[in-house]
Amino acid sequence: MSAQEQPAWPDAVIARYLTLSGEVFRDPSIYVEVLRNDEQHAFYRCHCCSRQTLPEFTGVTQDQAQAHAEKCRALPRPGVAS
Ligand SMILES: [Zn+2]
Repeated sequence: MSAQEQPAWPDAVIARYLTLSGEVFRDPSIYVEVLRNDEQHAFYRCHCCSRQTLPEFTGVTQDQAQAHAEKCRALPRPGVAS
């Protein structure tokens, strides 16, 4: 399977974490992304299972996003980009 390009980063995106599924399929477009809500808060959204959190302190959200990415086995619907 060939490596795919990671989708562009919108300004609000702080970080992205490759999910377990993304690692298995070697697909950088399968990730959890952390989005800025305001100066100190952010929320995350998983592009595989559609889980989205309410805004928390940015550091907390990044830890949660990474923890989710490490165990999320959901697969994105084929043909739906980001
Ligand atoms: Zn997920």
